[in-house]
Amino acid sequence: MINRLLKEAYKLIIPEKIRIEIIYLTNKIRSLFLRGNKFYCNYCQKGFRKFLPKGNIKRKNAMCPNCMSLERTRLLLEYLKNETEIFSKELKVLHFAPERCLFKLLKKEKLEYIDGDINPLLARNVIDITNIKHLNNYFDIIICSHVLGHIPDEKRAVNELKRVLSPGGELIIMSLINFGLEKTYENSNIKTAGERLNHYGEPDLERLYGRDIISRLQESGLNVEQIDYREKVDKNLIVKLNLGDGCREMIYKCT
Ligand SMILES: [Zn+2]
Repeated sequence: MINRLLKEAYKLIIPEKIRIEIIYLTNKIRSLFLRGNKFYCNYCQKGFRKFLPKGNIKRKNAMCPNCMSLERTRLLLEYLKNETEIFSKELKVLHFAPERCLFKLLKKEKLEYIDGDINPLLARNVIDITNIKHLNNYFDIIICSHVLGHIPDEKRAVNELKRVLSPGGELIIMSLINFGLEKTYENSNIKTAGERLNHYGEPDLERLYGRDIISRLQESGLNVEQIDYREKVDKNLIVKLNLGDGCREMIYKCT
């Protein structure tokens, strides 16, 4: 009880932006004591004896203590490096809910790089994914990882993503998927954070995607390829990077 009150008071007193920085800094200090050889982060290029746990049901060795990369972001980097021209060409790139580690890499590249989030604290640009203020056919690469499941009007968001994607461009979608579900689970009676957590696995999800995520994306006229990129990564590297179990790491390449 006291713990909860203290947490609430902390949230009220310290602004969110500073709280984010505090978490980042504390982890960075912790990372000094976790250096080792068992795990490796491809973003900060440092080795650790363990990664930090992450998630509501804690996933072991999930998050790099130094740069906060996760299983899915480390896999995404392998994919971007090996399968796209993002690090070699001057492309137009749109990145939703930018993961800090990937943002730091991409902003250094010779890209027209636009990062955006509906929350102004989490990106340099405020962008509503259901109403994107960019021209048709504009972006060569759009990165939309673990965003779509949080958007109530999923159809409108996907239509917008398709509209601003250039012909020949690539939209990369990742999300939490329950591969045991044939159909995506949504229930309009589920409203509170607690209910969402119980039913969907995260407190701010609007739905839990099933195997039909492909057909849902295809409905907007996109070509969709499901890629388990862990299959393309060297077996030793999969262990070192810890690339997850596939539930959060599947890549949907939409063109
Ligand atoms: Zn790292």
